[in-house]
Amino acid sequence: MTTNSKPKIAFFDFTSCEGCQLTVIDSLQDYPELLEAVEIVQFREAMSEKGEDYQVAFIEGSCTRESDEERLRSIREQASVVIALGTCADLAGVNALKYLHPLDEVRQYVYGDKANWFETYDARPISAVIPVDGAIPGCPIDRDEFIACVKALLLGKKLPVPDYPVCVECKLKENECLFHKGEVCLGLVTRAGCKAICPSYGQPCEACRGFISNPNDTSMHDLLDEHGLTLDEVILKYTMFTTYQVRETLLRRQEGHEQQN
Ligand code: SF4
Ligand code: SF4
Ligand code: SF4
Repeated sequence: MTTNSKPKIAFFDFTSCEGCQLTVIDSLQDYPELLEAVEIVQFREAMSEKGEDYQVAFIEGSCTRESDEERLRSIREQASVVIALGTCADLAGVNALKYLHPLDEVRQYVYGDKANWFETYDARPISAVIPVDGAIPGCPIDRDEFIACVKALLLGKKLPVPDYPVCVECKLKENECLFHKGEVCLGLVTRAGCKAICPSYGQPCEACRGFISNPNDTSMHDLLDEHGLTLDEVILKYTMFTTYQVRETLLRRQEGHEQQN
């Protein structure tokens, strides 16, 4: 990143609903000093200029077609820092729901008799195509977390994205656990950072921020046992945002078993 001039930042979108870009626009309105500290050279959602000279690239959306790959590689070649913005970019998010049905059926359902007109393949996170330097999870991203991450990037620090479960934030808010009310909540394996917003409003967490890297297996299994559930049952029940992550985990597990046998 240059030291004497403002860092140049670009935002890109791939397959997404653009909700994370809208959250970026919304959050930056409250931080004019942050806008002063950087130069945004490309951001289709917010401006018409298309500068190609940037050091930091925020990428929203999943890679869902072959032609996305070339575009992603060219962004990677230009940017010193690439950040996956939101769960579509980080984990393929809701786009990976199409794994649950045969691709031809999905194409037919969406495009009808024009299915062959449109290029598409399985949805993948950005990191499956190019190396990324960090990710800001969430569907959509959390506005405060986005601002904290931009500040960290400008200071050359690690992104302040937690790797502990939503339960921690939920407990700090003194919410009554939804398991006590007969609900199944994925907060115990999901990455915190959203301030436990769903359980705070009485809704179970559906893991829109993806799973933490090291869940506390013992207490998690104890809790699920208490409620007559297994982790696989719970995870398979909730595939809205984590289909890609679950599929990759199951594939890795299967490969591990095959190597052992
Ligand atoms: S992560 Fe969610 S809010 Fe963000 S672009 Fe994807 S679908 Fe939209
Ligand atoms: S409601 Fe969900 S997030 Fe809150 S403590 Fe219970 S399992 Fe954890
Ligand atoms: S509570 Fe769960 S589903 Fe809700 S915003 Fe947080 S991570 Fe996403």
